[in-house]
Amino acid sequence: MEWETVIGLEIHAQLATRSKIFSGASTAYGADPNTQACAVDLGLPGVLPVLNGEAVNMAVRFGLATGCSIAPHSVFARKNYFYPDLPKGYQISQYELPVVHDGEVTIELDDGETMRVGLTRAHLEEDAGKSLHEGFEGVTGIDLNRAGTPLLEIVSEPDLRSARQAVAYMKKIHSLVRYLEICDGNMQEGSFRCDANVSIRPKGQAEFGTRAEIKNLNSFRFVEKAINHEIERQIDLVESGGTVVQETRLYDSVKGETRSMRTKEEANDYRYFPDPDLLPLEITSEEVERIRATLPELPDAKKQRFMADYGLSAYDAGVLTASRDQADYFEAVVEAAGGEAKLAANWVMGDLSGALNRDGREVGDSPVTPAMLGGMLKRISDNTISGKIAKDVFEAMWNDEGDADAVIEAKGLKQVTDTGAIEAMIDEVIAANPGQVEQYRAGKDKLLGFFVGQVMKASKGKANPAQVNELLKKKLSG
Ligand code: ADP
Ligand code: MG
Repeated sequence: MEWETVIGLEIHAQLATRSKIFSGASTAYGADPNTQACAVDLGLPGVLPVLNGEAVNMAVRFGLATGCSIAPHSVFARKNYFYPDLPKGYQISQYELPVVHDGEVTIELDDGETMRVGLTRAHLEEDAGKSLHEGFEGVTGIDLNRAGTPLLEIVSEPDLRSARQAVAYMKKIHSLVRYLEICDGNMQEGSFRCDANVSIRPKGQAEFGTRAEIKNLNSFRFVEKAINHEIERQIDLVESGGTVVQETRLYDSVKGETRSMRTKEEANDYRYFPDPDLLPLEITSEEVERIRATLPELPDAKKQRFMADYGLSAYDAGVLTASRDQADYFEAVVEAAGGEAKLAANWVMGDLSGALNRDGREVGDSPVTPAMLGGMLKRISDNTISGKIAKDVFEAMWNDEGDADAVIEAKGLKQVTDTGAIEAMIDEVIAANPGQVEQYRAGKDKLLGFFVGQVMKASKGKANPAQVNELLKKKLSG
């Protein structure tokens, strides 16, 4: 039997507002427990929630960027359940009438193919607090700092068919919310996480199978692993005569498996109803247009422009525009280098991004500024240094030894382009290797690489490689 996988994601993006969604308490991460939860967040009697306008703006920005409809009228609802980290006994969310609905994004897969993924809805809600288990003996600590933090829950249609597609989709939403500056995207801190709904069905069958929902995945790698594990579990189960039950599962990243948290029978009946403390949310079309006018250039448009203006491949343009900071950095390098877009792309995606990864830095605080990298590319294109020597220059700039010109000067890295000097080195290499010269002249062309290597070594890497090649060929055949 051939199986087809069906996946839909519910992504939670923490909105980057300074204060909470219904109170003035700070949303800053990392404060001492329970120092950032006010009377509203704690659900004390006699207080009322007041909606944070900036959270609404951010939801609308997301909706506009994904071709969604913005509801002129939406409603906050109470989702009732009991849990120690939920002080009010209900979470304020949106249920029947979400603020944003019916849109889509286009994702690109590894093979370069693109695919459309439908967005069912995106709604505003508040986050709950956190249970703390570490450092407590026999009791659980409760930190309510996160209670009331604004979230945008982004719900996809069940359009995804593999773990890799799910990851590509999640990366696309991650890139979008960062472009829009509505979420910092920090997955370690839990600012961007998802629940994955997974089911299988025999290939060709129209109806969906029963799904399991894997909760709270906070890294792209975990999303891929958890989904793949879940697909395998469901196939094994069905093929050995069992049936998949609708349930919530947790991914254990240490064991690499999912396990049941609660089944549908024990599932909560949330008793949703409109929150009487909050007015319905009304958004006028003028307001929507005002927000539309503030949208930045989005990744898809930027990618097309990079291909058209800089002549980059779809792949390079896609990688460079995945983050706005990296795209800005690249454009500043091209500007500083006075062109050389392809060379700039290679350096940004290659040595720069390698060094950033190695040192755990963001492109925004690279010790090599765009002006410095652009300046170095100029020295490659005017033949002052070779691409190989440039790697040493880059490392020196990274280590705070000054800009490219200063490093080239201080280390004497200027490329040797003087024909006479190169010819002298070639003559020495030829005289020292009579055996190889004989073989080369007898037809063993491959030995050219050996000679080039010897001459480059003699010049300490500084001879111009193109000249070395050309002069060597002449001398060897002469
Ligand atoms: P709930 O509100 O109970 O979580 P929804 O119907 O809103 O359920 O669906 C939540 C998510 O589950 C959506 O992303 C949707 O695309 C996905 N989904 C729904 N049915 C299936 C299915 N049979 N298999 C996989 N995903 C599904
Ligand atoms: Mg759900």
